[in-house]
Amino acid sequence: MKSIIAIDGPAGAGKSTIAKSLAEALNYLYIDTGAMYRAVAYQALQQQAPLDDAERLGQLAAQANIDMRAENGENRILLNGYDVTKEIRLPQVSAVASAVSALPQVREQLVPKQRELAARGRAVLDGRDIGTVVLPQADCKIYLTASLDERAERRYKELLARGLEADLAEVRRDIEQRDYQDTHRETSPLRQADDAVYLDTTGLSIEQVLAKVLQLAEAAE
Ligand code: C5P
Repeated sequence: MKSIIAIDGPAGAGKSTIAKSLAEALNYLYIDTGAMYRAVAYQALQQQAPLDDAERLGQLAAQANIDMRAENGENRILLNGYDVTKEIRLPQVSAVASAVSALPQVREQLVPKQRELAARGRAVLDGRDIGTVVLPQADCKIYLTASLDERAERRYKELLARGLEADLAEVRRDIEQRDYQDTHRETSPLRQADDAVYLDTTGLSIEQVLAKVLQLAEAAE
């Protein structure tokens, strides 16, 4: 597959920060697949759709018109024409995103959209199943992780930087719970692809991680 970079890993590993910077450095398209599950979760919350109604949530995913747009260095997410960039990062949306993403009916709708976006090549995608399910032919696969404490700390700071209220212990619990759900679900669970490079970023700065990831991407070209 032409120039596809897949970055998978648990919540708060810095995937989106790294994927976005990598895409900028290479002049690639950045595709945030987590944002797509978050957008469906947001829509489900708005419509008060019961989370056990898999058919209805699948329909919601099918009908959701999700657009991504790079604007002033930020990746803006539009859901049916509305900018939901900030709203989809709320902790309650994270938890619901993890629940809806476990449903095959939802994945069946979003995975083809992700493949379609990546079809032109020259794209960096981040998520949980990019290297294993969405694009197993990706040229470069990276499994990005860090210790739970560090991931919680990073996510906590990210929420504060976005002007959202947060509690570190709560953020840590939320990440732990999502990791458990994401690795234990039946459909496309989070796991490292056999041919992915494992990168533990605990104690590393964004610049250090980016340098390593750039090296890996260039070696795979
Ligand atoms: O990456 P992010 O934390 O924004 O993703 C939100 C949720 O969406 C994850 O907890 C996971 O359950 C789900 N997800 C997924 N597959 C992906 C990307 C995200 O199941 N490729």
